[in-house]
Amino acid sequence: MTQRKVIFFDSKSYDEKTFKSALKNLNGQDKLRFTFLESKLSEETVEEAKDYDAICVFVNDVVSENVIEELHKKCNTIKIIALRSAGFNNVHLETAEKYDIKVCRVPRYSPYAVAEHSVALLLSLNRNMHHAFFRTKQHNFNLDGLVGIDLFGKTVGIIGTGGIGMCAINIFLGFGCKVLAYDVYPNEKVAKEKGFVYTTMDELLRESDVVSLYAPLLESTYHIINKEALDKMKHGAMLINTSRGGLVDANALVECLKKGKLRGAALDVYENEKKYFFNDFSQQVMDDDTLARLISMPNTIVTSHQAFLTEEALKNIAESTIQSLLDFFDGKPLNENNEVKLPPKTEEKK
Ligand code: NAD
Repeated sequence: MTQRKVIFFDSKSYDEKTFKSALKNLNGQDKLRFTFLESKLSEETVEEAKDYDAICVFVNDVVSENVIEELHKKCNTIKIIALRSAGFNNVHLETAEKYDIKVCRVPRYSPYAVAEHSVALLLSLNRNMHHAFFRTKQHNFNLDGLVGIDLFGKTVGIIGTGGIGMCAINIFLGFGCKVLAYDVYPNEKVAKEKGFVYTTMDELLRESDVVSLYAPLLESTYHIINKEALDKMKHGAMLINTSRGGLVDANALVECLKKGKLRGAALDVYENEKKYFFNDFSQQVMDDDTLARLISMPNTIVTSHQAFLTEEALKNIAESTIQSLLDFFDGKPLNENNEVKLPPKTEEKK
């Protein structure tokens, strides 16, 4: 069998380590050869894929109409785009389909990883861990300004009750919280069994002490948390986002936080994260004023799209991606859960 060449964009040392180890475990070394690039895929870097058989990308690689056009023109040996992620909002599916380029993703590599990170963000924000950590490092044992609230008995609003949202619901129910949920496809049977309640978006915003987002980025979810939604939220509520940055209008959130309406916000994702996230800019002046403002506030926590980052998730991502590539090059159909097809009029927002 011909050894197929796969080029990875936006890859880190942990990607290289887990993919090499998974390739060995799946006995795929004779079938696939990997090249790992740190640069993100974009119109500027697309030519790097020349003479490869597949590209493997992550959440902030640009797989736009133009990039796929360029791929087709300059690197027309590429017949599959493998996403090392669940979300696929960065891929222009129509153009991929036009050139008969398959797209695959890893839909359920570890819902626990993401749900647990969202809870970690909430607990840190609520109990001021981000301040306590630095205080004790400086031998400052003062507790002023560190008062949190009990989560027991509070109402948590979950937007999106798919794999990750459900894991988060289980955790919050375990904490003794009341859970309200909003989803375009509510699962009333599960809600009844577990003991949470589906409601309208308006009621969820009005009633929740914590609002946490677990819906994908679609036309219908873009800026689902905008000024109007923030106005409807309870005074003193907390907002958590580990889904996609585009769900929150970041400027509206800054204004809302400036007014002191929310207790705080914790974000693992940011709508314009592409330029900064995953890289070290500690020696440069940030030119994104909204992100700088969000980071600067005492009642915000920003992590750099790391909710997925557990050993288990990385292993599952690598194994699933490699399996899809092996299947594709063996001429087998892709697993229907992994193949990303153009959905009828509900495609993810670019
Ligand atoms: P999923 O497909 O299992 O669930 C998504 C849920 O959102 C579904 O139940 C769907 O019906 C619901 N939904 C769709 N449109 C909606 C709308 N307009 N309003 C309310 N709900 C809506 O997906 P998942 O595996 O739970 O992942 C959710 C999202 O989390 C992904 O799309 C991805 O963007 C994000 N994610 C982030 C990270 C990270 O590291 N931060 C990692 C993985 C996934």
